Amino acid sequence: MKAKVLINGYGSIGKRVADAVSAQKDMEVIGVTKTKPDFDAKLATELGYKLYCAIPDKERVKAFEEAGIPIEGTILDVIEEADIVVDGAPKKVGKENLEKIYKPNKVKAILQGGEKAKDVEDNFNALWSYERCYGKSYVRVVSCNTTGLCRILYALKDFGIKKARVVLVRRGADPNDDKTGPINAIKPNPVTVPSHHGPDVVSVVPELKDKIITSAVIVPTTLMHQHTLMVEVESEVKREDILEKINETPRIILVREKEGFSSTAKIIEFARDLGRKRYDLPELCVWEESVNTLGNEIFLMQAVHQESIVVPENIDCIRAMLEMEDDKFKSIEKTNKALNLIK
Ligand code: NAD
Repeated sequence: MKAKVLINGYGSIGKRVADAVSAQKDMEVIGVTKTKPDFDAKLATELGYKLYCAIPDKERVKAFEEAGIPIEGTILDVIEEADIVVDGAPKKVGKENLEKIYKPNKVKAILQGGEKAKDVEDNFNALWSYERCYGKSYVRVVSCNTTGLCRILYALKDFGIKKARVVLVRRGADPNDDKTGPINAIKPNPVTVPSHHGPDVVSVVPELKDKIITSAVIVPTTLMHQHTLMVEVESEVKREDILEKINETPRIILVREKEGFSSTAKIIEFARDLGRKRYDLPELCVWEESVNTLGNEIFLMQAVHQESIVVPENIDCIRAMLEMEDDKFKSIEKTNKALNLIK
């Protein structure tokens, strides 16, 4: 029998996770929720998803009726059927949903990176914490930046990480966002150093406590985040060894400037040309030319497609929490195959 997944909050992350769940053989979407009857709600029904009102409130339900968008009821009419809920609600709302809806209804739930590590039982990255999250009830899939850092640090872990220093250049807004920015500035965010990204990595990889320091700025772009890493390891290391480890690690691809991948714009053009829905690129992209070593120091640059990198992680997190597959690499392979990822 397929695992029954409810998507609460059909926004940037929710709609992508819904499609990714639908692509798997061992799970299905039993419903998606929206708070209001906008075009996303209409398209969800046209894609065949059963639509529910995220907030159990008569006025909200009436708004869907008045807009002529059919709903099946409210979240409370479907929650009992769900084996697990993937929360795709905005930052901080996920925690409220956890306390007000998921826990009282005794349903397992995955929260997203906008929530705090301390509000859940554990923090998920398929490579690092699949086994730890196995069978757990309330887990957070860490943010896009943290997922990108976790993946690359997994590739480097066998060299013995002594220190990781990372500068993050964050996109100012998602392409669908008409509220945030900046549009004409480079904004340290947070202005304090270290930024919260290091501790967030530690929520997944506790052994990196006191070893990773991050700082971040936000810039006017919508396409991707970019990271520059400087990592000190136990002993001298060669560039070829790093490239080999990256090649062995799932969901990381090498892109080459000499092949035209000169910027995030070009990487996204590649995703468009692949015919990826919403030009998604869940694979972490490392610029091959940037990979370098000096004694026991490693340097590299990478790009993270913020809206999609966490999507396959949500799928593996479902398998771990519902104890559907005890081998993380088998789950990763199933997910990657169903989503047609490069590796
Ligand atoms: P979004 O604004 O695109 O979507 C949020 C959706 O939740 C909207 O459809 C909204 O109507 C709905 N919603 C509002 N209140 C709700 C409620 N009470 N219950 C259920 N649904 C509700 O947001 P997003 O970008 O998809 O972000 C969702 C989560 O994913 C956040 O925690 C965010 O930090 C995290 N995240 C976002 C990105 C990204 O790049 N967008 C990447 C990784 C993680």
